[in-house]
Amino acid sequence: SRRIVLASRPKGAPVSGDFRLETGPAVEPDEGQVAIRNLYLSLDPYMRGRMSDAPSYAEPFQIGEALGGATVGRVEASRDGNFKEGDLVLAFGGWQERSVLPASSLRKLPADLTRPSYALGVLGMPGFTAWHGLMKIGEPQAGETVVVAAASGAVGSVVGQVAKLKGARVVGIAGGEEKCRFVTDELGFDACIDRRDPQFAEKLKAAVPDGIDVYFENVGGAVFDAVLPLLNVHARVPICGLIAGYNSERPPEGPDRMPLLMGTLLKKRIRMQGFIIGDHYGPEFSEFMAEMGPWVKEGRVRFREDVVEGLENAPKAFIGLLEGENFGKLVVKLSDD
Ligand code: NDP
Repeated sequence: SRRIVLASRPKGAPVSGDFRLETGPAVEPDEGQVAIRNLYLSLDPYMRGRMSDAPSYAEPFQIGEALGGATVGRVEASRDGNFKEGDLVLAFGGWQERSVLPASSLRKLPADLTRPSYALGVLGMPGFTAWHGLMKIGEPQAGETVVVAAASGAVGSVVGQVAKLKGARVVGIAGGEEKCRFVTDELGFDACIDRRDPQFAEKLKAAVPDGIDVYFENVGGAVFDAVLPLLNVHARVPICGLIAGYNSERPPEGPDRMPLLMGTLLKKRIRMQGFIIGDHYGPEFSEFMAEMGPWVKEGRVRFREDVVEGLENAPKAFIGLLEGENFGKLVVKLSDD
């Protein structure tokens, strides 16, 4: 079966030469292990951080090894009593068509999932990230204004829809008119501003006449510069991601804006808090699923996927993710169900 390994650590934006497709013999599972045929591989922004060897909250991927990533797959052969052939499982199967993993690392998925790939999206890590950051840190109140960028994406689309369900006014930010139209017309946000519009900052200001009470930070960079002066007294800013900077090798040029940031936080008594979703699995994940499961079934939360066919196309799709070329949650389809 085939896999994609990290050939070299990217310098700045990853290029196709940083990845290598390899074919290897099929390994058989040992006692306590399960062999899985992977159906879907999730491509996520955090993978860029793990391609570098700078110290972080997670271990770097190793050169010459298959890249890591969450997968949904079917059990092909099991040497563990808890799994049998044909079971649908969530695993960290990596960028490969087949994985052999310890049974203890797998989670069995219900056979009646709306779509199996949703376990990698709205009903999995990104959905949980959106729900946790918004509800536990953002704490939106009815009538408040919530702003989120990358609003058509995996996390942002869920943030905005949940905030609407909680009675907030929601303004999205997205790259391009087509994404913005989707965010307002299909996801029901009150407004959406194109971050590539030359008048982006002015248009954002006009879209939030009462200021911003919750800014869910997904991107950083120029988007945050436009948001900062619009934050209200006692605003909450969950810091989820800073994708605008993931490919940067050095700090941005320009004046030092740290005093402006610190001064704004102080004078407006703003609370900014970073979080890493891996810390929060456990009882809170069940709380999330109890709320999100019905919302998705009833169509009250909608979720767009960007499905790329074939493992060989994963590198190009991942490179594009860091430039906003995806439209919806990016997953790679590896095999028919
Ligand atoms: P998305 O599905 O939203 O895809 C990424 C999107 O980011 C792109 O579509 C694009 O949206 C935007 N983007 C890409 N490059 C840039 C750039 N250079 N400048 C500004 N925007 C850019 O991804 P996810 O929903 O999976 O992730 C969203 C954020 O959440 C990321 O920052 C990610 O790291 C973070 N995250 C954090 C977690 C945590 O535990 N803290 C867990 C999961 C995700 P557009 O074209 O609309 O601007």
